[in-house]
Amino acid sequence: MADWLNKRVAILGLGRSGASAAAYLAGKGAKVLLSESGSGAAQGSKIEELSGLGVAVELDGHSDEALSSAELIVTSPGISPSAPVLVKARQLNKEVICDVELAYRETKTPIIAVTGTNGKSTTCALISYILSRAGRVAPACGNFGVPVLDQLSKKPDWLVVEVSSFQSQYCSAFAPAIAVWLNLTPDHLDWHGGLDGYIDAKRRLFAAQEPHQYAVLNTDDPVVAATETRAEIFPFSASSELSGAVQGAFMKDGFLCYRIYGRSRIVCAPEELKIIGRHNWENALAAISAAALAEVAPDEIGSYLKEFQALEHRLEYVATIDGVAYYNDSKATNADSTIKALQAFPEEKVVLIAGGRDKGTDLSSFAEAVKANAAAVVLIGEAASRFADELSKSGFEKIYRAGSLEEAVDTGGQLKLGPVLLSPACASFDMFKDYEDRGRVFKDLVCTREKRLSPQA
Ligand code: ADP
Repeated sequence: MADWLNKRVAILGLGRSGASAAAYLAGKGAKVLLSESGSGAAQGSKIEELSGLGVAVELDGHSDEALSSAELIVTSPGISPSAPVLVKARQLNKEVICDVELAYRETKTPIIAVTGTNGKSTTCALISYILSRAGRVAPACGNFGVPVLDQLSKKPDWLVVEVSSFQSQYCSAFAPAIAVWLNLTPDHLDWHGGLDGYIDAKRRLFAAQEPHQYAVLNTDDPVVAATETRAEIFPFSASSELSGAVQGAFMKDGFLCYRIYGRSRIVCAPEELKIIGRHNWENALAAISAAALAEVAPDEIGSYLKEFQALEHRLEYVATIDGVAYYNDSKATNADSTIKALQAFPEEKVVLIAGGRDKGTDLSSFAEAVKANAAAVVLIGEAASRFADELSKSGFEKIYRAGSLEEAVDTGGQLKLGPVLLSPACASFDMFKDYEDRGRVFKDLVCTREKRLSPQA
């Protein structure tokens, strides 16, 4: 833990993590300059609060002085390493980290870090839930939406930190006691300058780990399985019994199981979970691994795992209207997560609402999953044309276009071909503020439809 008194620190970006880092460091006596490229409009109260703590705030761009005088730069993970401000910081030989790295350096609390292309938030919430129900103070934080530094004063037993590739990109010494990697599929490639950059960013979570720490790795994913680390590997697999491994979490005879310290345990059947879909078996196995390594008793792991409910916007059941069930999976912002959502309904075909801002990734596996699991697809947003072309090329014909989400919900409901699933496989920014806004609008539309079709409900 550093002595911050009078140290000059520049914080780049007035987002949640930037404000948190500024407040934390100012509280430790550092001379903090928070530099924001935007105008700071609508952030007045935040700026006032930080100024009250002694933080200097500059708006409308990053001055040369902000960089040159800083002994350390804490950047928002949203700023790409190729952004001019960070190129300049490197030229000046400045150390650039993010708030997750800073929190790691500032605490002795053991960290469970969770990364992956998809499932991070669910798995973090699951681990935090199991540990908290078992009596530990173990907040879910980081990319989860709650800055890690804000948690340190709560004297947690564990920090359960969701780490995005943007954050791990700016980590160097970060060595979690338990680091979990769920999966890897192409995402955020522009930001990382390609797939290799994306993989390297994820691998940073394991690079500084030591032999007494644990790497919980999904052995079903070839990139994840090939992770090099000095930490002890605790594998998990939803498709094998891991019979050769001395420890790990796995499926056996249709049950979620784990083996640790020479003893095997059955946790529960996946049907007992409240979270649906095979991808959630993987999230559950990862959470079981972390909880077992954090020494939660086997019966507690099983009980609390079974209690856990889906997070908002992740295959969240909304309502059944006129015999049609509606699910909100707005958080599915890439094709892989939508494929997993489609596969979560093995008994029936769904009406998929997809589209939004296109990420431009290959859609062949998506088209296969649609053919296997969807009765119809209703397309919205900027991606609609490319999605329609790719689906027709693959031989899928039941394609509808809608000019708004409202129209898509109506079309989906009227078709009566199966549950209506909003799982866009796209970002939301062409039509909505973010995926949460999209999910809430969807749920409101479903409620309106419910009132219209069954006014007594
Ligand atoms: P993240 O925080 O990584 O974005 P979330 O838990 O918020 O992950 O889930 C994001 C989307 O990915 C949701 O649509 C969800 O249904 C889907 N998803 C969740 N877990 C997995 C998984 N293990 N593999 C693939 N998709 C998943």
